[in-house]
Order: sequence, then structure tokens, then C-alpha cells
Amino acid sequence: MSELLTYENFDQLASSFEFSHDDETKGALGALKWAYSHYGDQLVYACSFGIEGIVLIDLISKVNEKAKVVFLDTNLHFKETYELIEKVKERYPSLQIEMKKPSLTLEEQAKQFGEELWKSNPNKCCEIRKILPLTEVLSGATAWLSGLRRDQSESRKNTEYINKDNKFKSVKVCPLIHWTWKDIWRYAHKQQLDYNKLHDNGYPSIGCAPCTSPAINIDDLRSGRWTGTNKTECGLHQ
Ligand code: SF4
Repeated sequence: MSELLTYENFDQLASSFEFSHDDETKGALGALKWAYSHYGDQLVYACSFGIEGIVLIDLISKVNEKAKVVFLDTNLHFKETYELIEKVKERYPSLQIEMKKPSLTLEEQAKQFGEELWKSNPNKCCEIRKILPLTEVLSGATAWLSGLRRDQSESRKNTEYINKDNKFKSVKVCPLIHWTWKDIWRYAHKQQLDYNKLHDNGYPSIGCAPCTSPAINIDDLRSGRWTGTNKTECGLHQ
């Protein structure tokens, strides 16, 4: 067993781990097998239940059917997203899916910071409803999984299978980096996976309802997120 790769020793050890993407899952299954055998219970999947998340859950279920999956439940998601999560729970009953809530309810947030904080200060809203809850989740884990793909956006094109995550002082494992948008959908259809119905209505990327609209640019899959502002990420991947 090789020495555990952590945030602290990442710079010394990361290059000793090699991954191949020369298989039909473009390396995703290999990365997942490595991650679960290397980290065991110290690995958490933070899933947003977009189509990449659905594909990754299916792949994870082939490697570790009792995997820990966390959904950052901001209380502001579309009803279609919550419905999908129930279907996923039925399909993969052994997965440990946690709905992680922020410490402030929406009412408490409005009282402290004003109504509709996502309009006046979306970074603060994301910090309260996503970043702080994930920080709590990751405080008990050495590494986390994410469904980031290189072709999702400019800011994600240098993502590796294993990444030093300065934001959360953790190791972030991204098995889908080489998958294209077409690969994702081909796999989802082939495996007959349930997915968020909003994907069929012009929403390639789905987050909280107040900050998500149909994509305004078909070449930019994330162009429906925080439309009209210069915000492009919730802060989890910066
Ligand atoms: Fe708030 Fe929007 Fe961020 Fe959701 S995506 S936490 S509603 S600012």
C-alpha cells in the first residue's frame, strides 16, 4: 500500500500516481478504483445531480456500492432536482446519500443579510449555503470526488485526475476529466439513467433555481449560471 496522498504531501507524492485513460470509460473507472482503494471511507463524493453527477454515481456504484455521497442542499434547488434525488436513492439503495444543509435557514439568512441575498451578494450566499457546508463535510475526509470535465469551461480545462485543493485543504479526484458532453449523454442513454428533466428544456448546467436559467450560448454549457453577472463558479472549484 502506497503512502496516503494528502493535501500536505501532495507536492511530493502526486507525480508518483499514474492514471491511464486508454479504456472505454476514458480512465474514469480506473481513477475511481484507485480513489476508493487508496482512501476508503476518507473519500466523499460531492454531487450536484447534474448529468455528470448521474453518470459518476453509476460508475461509483460499480466500484463501491456503499459510497458516501453529499448533496449541498441549499433549499433553493428546482423541484426537478429533488425529484431526481429520490429516484437515484431508489436505484442505488446502498449508497449513503446525505442532504447537507447550511447552518442558516433561508429565513435566518434573510433576517441577517436581507431578502434574496443571491441577488445582492451571490458570493456571500454561496459561501453560506455551499462553501461552509462543504467545508464541514470535508473536515472529516481526506479527499473528495467531483464530476468536473475539462471541456465544461475555460476555468476547468487544466483539471487533472488528482488535484491539490487549496480551497478546502484536501485532494480533489476528478474521474471524468476526459469525457465530452457527448460521452456523458451516450453513457446516460446506454445505461438508461434517470436525469434531471430540465436538461431537456435548455438547461445543460443546473444549480440553484434563482441563479440558473437556460444556457444563453450553446457553446458555453455553463452560460445559464448567474446570467448577467460576472460570476461563473459558486466557489467550490476555485
Ligand atoms: Fe445562493 Fe445562487 Fe449560490 Fe445558490 S447558486 S447558494 S442561490 S448565490
